[in-house]
Amino acid sequence: MGARQKYRLRARSDREVIREVEPGKTYVDRESGEEFEVVSKLLPLAPSPSELPWSVENLRLCGCSLEQLAPKDLNDCPHCGRRLPAIER
Ligand SMILES: [Zn+2]
Repeated sequence: MGARQKYRLRARSDREVIREVEPGKTYVDRESGEEFEVVSKLLPLAPSPSELPWSVENLRLCGCSLEQLAPKDLNDCPHCGRRLPAIER
């Protein structure tokens, strides 16, 4: 975990996601249908899978039965592996 390069992607409506990207693949916002553009590359930090400090504004409940806090920049819950929903802004 945390070994793959992640990128910040932004749609026209300023919605952002942080994820790994594959070259040549197009990423579309599931809600707005807008295409994401890669705006920056995140530095990989080990050993945490998250690039965010462990503070309350960077955490959210993953929603699984474990009711664990998950960093907001993760796509998957680090506790149960459940896919996390896109963050509302
Ligand atoms: Zn979970």
